[in-house]
This record gives sequence, C-alpha cells and structure tokens, in this order.
Amino acid sequence: MNDTPHRRPDAGTLIGRMEWVAPRGAIMDGDRRYLMLRADVLMGIFREMPAELRGPAMEAFAASVGKHGGRSAKAYLEAGGNRPQELLETIARYSRELGWGCWRVIAHDGEAIEVTVENSPFAEGFGPAPDPVCHAIVGMLQAVGTLVFGQPASVVEACCAAQQGVDRCIFRVVPAAARVDADASRAEERRAS
Ligand SMILES: [Zn+2]
Repeated sequence: MNDTPHRRPDAGTLIGRMEWVAPRGAIMDGDRRYLMLRADVLMGIFREMPAELRGPAMEAFAASVGKHGGRSAKAYLEAGGNRPQELLETIARYSRELGWGCWRVIAHDGEAIEVTVENSPFAEGFGPAPDPVCHAIVGMLQAVGTLVFGQPASVVEACCAAQQGVDRCIFRVVPAAARVDADASRAEERRAS
C-alpha cells in the first residue's frame, strides 16, 4: 500500500492521538481540550496591555501553563512508566508538534537542565522586546523540572529570540532550593566584599 501524504502520524505522537471533533467544534487529547489561535493574537494580549500590567500578566501566563500544562506532563510521566528523562524528551517532542518551537534538551545532569527553543511562537508573536517573553515555556519547564527533580524547580529564560541579536531562546532549569542557596552565597559574597 502506498503511503499517502494525509497519513496520520503514529500513535506515539500527540498529534496522532488528538481528535478534531467537528460537530462540537473541539480539538481534544482525551479530556484535555486544545485551541488553535494565531501566535500574534495570543501575544498581542500582552503587547496591547498597559506596560505596568505586562509583567504580572506574563507571570500569570507562566503560572497557568505550569498548573494546567503540568497536569498534562504528570499524565505523560505516569503513562510512560515514571521515567523522568523520557518525560523531558516527550515534552520536547510534543512541544514541536504543538507549534511551540523546536525544543532541544541540551544538558541534563540531575542538578540542572538546559533547554534551547528555536522558532518560539511566543517570541515571534510578541515581536521585538528588551526582555524575554516566553513565559509560557518557563511555566511548562517549571512543571516538568519539578517532576524531574522531585522538588520545586526554578526556571530562567537566559536569552530570548525576541531580543535584538538573539537567534534562539535558552532556558536553565534548576531545583529551586539550589537557586536559593546560590542567591544566598552571592549575597554572602557581597557582604564579605
Ligand atoms: Zn523566548
């Protein structure tokens, strides 16, 4: 039998599992409902709002992704036999399928995870910005990092493609306790100097 260009991806992919329920106007992954919208429409919310509200709104976006996306991540982890390293790869793969850019897990040594994202729709949708804008990815990585480390994770977007001269977004994920320790030792150094 010939492959057709419309052949659906295999069941190991998120797209392969999703259902377009036309009569209900819904896109579903099991009981999880998805929504397609333009990246510039989504990020335009933040672009359009008064500057003083933007920071708190983006933090809320990260928190929402962490909470709701985190439930998906937990379900994937349990479905995959509770193997955290595989969860990272699964999230990276699913994120590409969902149009969240091209994710790569660059380093993972149990104490820190580094993820790069090329073609972030959040950076592209927002447009040029002085500071990182991919709070949705930060929120997802906070949830995933918490599952991988078995304790709350802290995530920083070190640089963002929305910033001038930057071609990809880079995220560093560490256990939150490690970050607190590092901050404390930096404060200690400052006091000592
Ligand atoms: Zn970014």
